[in-house]
Amino acid sequence: MPEKQTLEIRWHGRGGQGIVTAAKMPAEVIIKQNGHALASQEYGPERSGAPIKCYTTISNTEIKMYSQPEHPDIVIVVDSTLLKTEPILEGTNENAIIIVNSSHEPENIARAISGGKRKVWTVDATAIALQELGKNFPNTTLLGALIRATELVSLENILEKVAEGLGKKNAALLEGNLQAVRRGYNEARFYQGSEDAVPSTPAPPQKAWYEIEEAGTLPAGTAKKYSTGDWRITHPVLNEQCVHCMLCWLFCPDNAIVVKNEKVIGFDPEHCKGCGICAEVCPPKIRAIAMEEGGEPCEK
Ligand code: SF4
Ligand code: SF4
Repeated sequence: MPEKQTLEIRWHGRGGQGIVTAAKMPAEVIIKQNGHALASQEYGPERSGAPIKCYTTISNTEIKMYSQPEHPDIVIVVDSTLLKTEPILEGTNENAIIIVNSSHEPENIARAISGGKRKVWTVDATAIALQELGKNFPNTTLLGALIRATELVSLENILEKVAEGLGKKNAALLEGNLQAVRRGYNEARFYQGSEDAVPSTPAPPQKAWYEIEEAGTLPAGTAKKYSTGDWRITHPVLNEQCVHCMLCWLFCPDNAIVVKNEKVIGFDPEHCKGCGICAEVCPPKIRAIAMEEGGEPCEK
């Protein structure tokens, strides 16, 4: 582990990408080695594809702070579409390490995020996951990149942990995941930012529960305010069986069913998050909506 006594990692990903598991693994290795570690997560809407954040804290001494880290030393971006929508650099200073799942060179990512002197790593974790696992689970590849960038623990230790975690549950996927960790370690690319330092981004002050005006609830009628279309990793497809009963319109949480002249004609690509509720509620004898893989724009 590097000299600093406490290291804080923030993971940005989407529901269903396995980042909760990835955040726990280095923590569990450190605890096994008699160090101190903590892993936690912060969910938004609990849906596949929704942005979520996880945290790993690792320390040489007992951890007494249980709140979520506000000034992470390392930020890992598991889904690069979040670079546009999430405050990735929030709370970091110019010594921070940023690791991004991307096919782009780290220099390009550093420029795109205005990373200043931060150290930027990229690894094409999605491509590696598809090759090694046949599925877009980039978490284990990024774990390999994290170990390469930080030397928090040894590659062998993390491979053992992955084997311990997955071996019992799914032996078939084990070898693919081990290979994904090794490739993440070997194929991660590094760029030392050199542009003029970007000032540390202050984290917004956190409110105590008694300071939250509406007890944490959102006012009604906000669905159209938020562009949830970029959360989509599956998309609905409408077929001609539709009898326009409007059940899908009633249940869609994002008001994303497009209706014209009292008929369902498609889905709003800006707001459809691909949750699949419309396909679930469509009467079984009709089945006019099928969910397909990928975030392609829904037809309108
Ligand atoms: S249109 Fe269907 S998949 Fe899209 S947000 Fe609404 S219920 Fe979910
Ligand atoms: S629930 Fe199914 S049948 Fe009813 S309007 Fe929606 S797609 Fe059409």
